[in-house]
Amino acid sequence: MGYSEEVVITDHRYSAKALSRRVFYKWLFPALTEWAAIIVLFWIGFTANVWPVWVIVIFLLGSRQHALGVLGHDGAHFTAAKSKRINDAASALLCFWPMMTTLGDFRRFHYNHHRHFNSAHDPEVIFKSTMSGKQWQPPITRRRIAMYFIGDLFGFGILEVLKARQVLTMSGLLFQNAPGRITKGRWKNWIGPLAILAFIVGVLYSSHLLVALAIWYAALLTSFWAFFRLRTWTEHGGIIENGQTTHRLKLSWVERILITPHESWSHFEHHAHPGIPFWSRHKICEKGVRTKSLWATLGTFGE
Ligand SMILES: [Zn+2]
Repeated sequence: MGYSEEVVITDHRYSAKALSRRVFYKWLFPALTEWAAIIVLFWIGFTANVWPVWVIVIFLLGSRQHALGVLGHDGAHFTAAKSKRINDAASALLCFWPMMTTLGDFRRFHYNHHRHFNSAHDPEVIFKSTMSGKQWQPPITRRRIAMYFIGDLFGFGILEVLKARQVLTMSGLLFQNAPGRITKGRWKNWIGPLAILAFIVGVLYSSHLLVALAIWYAALLTSFWAFFRLRTWTEHGGIIENGQTTHRLKLSWVERILITPHESWSHFEHHAHPGIPFWSRHKICEKGVRTKSLWATLGTFGE
């Protein structure tokens, strides 16, 4: 079992069908909790209103934006709610649109990642091996991974964020043969994100809090990407032992909250059973196989 990519549900209390049950409030509650945390962070920032506090706020804000992205990933898999309409509306409104991304683009990109996993058509492979090869190919030391994290926090990852956008929309020459790629009518996807942006600008402008929008985008272009990059390493990054394609790491609760929120630490099991919502995925995790820490794992990617 330890050498297999398959995840067999051995606990007879659960069946794959029962575990794949969608319960909307179990997705909605964490999503609203993330938004409550975001509001608290802004409140702290505006109350203190000194730049060192804003720096900490931006750092934590990016981690919560990343957590919303993880919940959006569930929505892309239709596991947020039983009703497709509620699933799509909630994940677009609470996760994708505020981050100027569309559910449709992410779903197409991400389904290609699952369907063509680790092949030439896997958009993650294209990103990591062709578009940003130097940053993702082992050997890479822990020190360099840390330098990328710090660099991202200072905004040196902006070009990477732009490249990631290109991957999400599968635009450009590298994606011309990508399965499922659409070229017409893409602008329609942007009506929602732009409408919500106009609404938020209106509300913030009338309450003289427009600076909050600048803080939001500053976090999106810096710490969001720093956490996104770090979580990406914990999934299929670097060198993976035993010929496997996905890591199984032992993370502390702080690492789970900041780097792999909402059970995204169980990415191995997610690839085996993408229809199981994040909140019940731990039930299919084999006990005792997660023995290596994040620090130790990153240490194996280097020379
Ligand atoms: Zn997925």
